Amino acid sequence: MLLGQSVVPLNMQSRQKRSRLPLLPYRRKKVITGSQLGRYVIGPELGRGATGVVYRAWDVRLERKVAIKVINQQSRLSLLGWGWLLREARLAGGLNHPCICTVYDAGEEDGQAYIAMEYVEGSPLSLLLMPTGRPSALATHYGRFVSSALDHAHARGILHRDIKAANIMVTAQGELKILDFGLAKRLRMGAALHPLQSSTDVGHVVGTIPYLAPEVLRGERASVRSDIWSVGILLYEMATGLHPFQGQTVFDLSNAIMTSIPSFPANRICKRLAQAIGRCLQKDPSRRYPHAHDLLGDLSAVGLPGLTICWRQFKGTFRRSLAA
Ligand code: ATP
Ligand code: MG
Repeated sequence: MLLGQSVVPLNMQSRQKRSRLPLLPYRRKKVITGSQLGRYVIGPELGRGATGVVYRAWDVRLERKVAIKVINQQSRLSLLGWGWLLREARLAGGLNHPCICTVYDAGEEDGQAYIAMEYVEGSPLSLLLMPTGRPSALATHYGRFVSSALDHAHARGILHRDIKAANIMVTAQGELKILDFGLAKRLRMGAALHPLQSSTDVGHVVGTIPYLAPEVLRGERASVRSDIWSVGILLYEMATGLHPFQGQTVFDLSNAIMTSIPSFPANRICKRLAQAIGRCLQKDPSRRYPHAHDLLGDLSAVGLPGLTICWRQFKGTFRRSLAA
């Protein structure tokens, strides 16, 4: 298992049976550039992850660019495609926020299931991180977007559970879009009011290890506060260029997440941002921000000196990452 890859629940097969969604046949329509899937003409590949492959495509009916996600054939979820993708489409499809990638449609043709969504022209945030870190103003600016989008999802009872730099796109206009609700989960009724609860099955580790909260690594339920932990990791990475917890193996990294206290390099990160990150990264979930809008409130109080200059420098890396 690669440390940066999403870990999917081991009990997906039984969940698929419970959901009564059809398993996809082993032989299914091939998706290649130039082929057509439903009303979408497939273009070049945009990216791939542990579960999906995403292509740019053309919607022939509405005459617009879209992004099409299909199941990665190499993934062990490849036989569960339809249920998995439909679940992702339903969860993300209920959200409407400028910082969340909009889902348009979900479908299946000749055994090949797909999601059609907004095409985000830009670069994953993971390619825009710098080894020396980005100025605090820029990290704060993007932290506000992420916490606002998460607040929207949480208020509608949805946990993302896989917030990480690779699941966030930055556009050339400087906007930010959260992608990939493949591991998202609906909170139990009333859980939005009691944010320590979720409907995540106890005992299953779901998410990407370097971004997982200590309680999730222990197999406890994910919650609004475990998503907030992941935002803390993301902000730390953006501001310092480092991961707050070190470890080359799953065991060492998990151990560091559960036991070590991150240090904040004073020359790389402003005090108020460090305080906000520190509160996101409390080992005890009850000491973290209870809601994403509380984090947003604190980030809104952090000044953004020189943001325009930071953004200009950022755009330079951005153009290079698009050209690569
Ligand atoms: P993971 O390994 O996190 O589970 P995944 O298999 O679910 O990932 P995604 O994260 O949804 O796949 O997509 C993989 C990559 O495809 C993204 O990192 C991004 O580069 C690209 N991508 C995904 N959706 C879009 C989109 N709507 N517009 C442009 N590019 C996209
Ligand atoms: Mg992803």
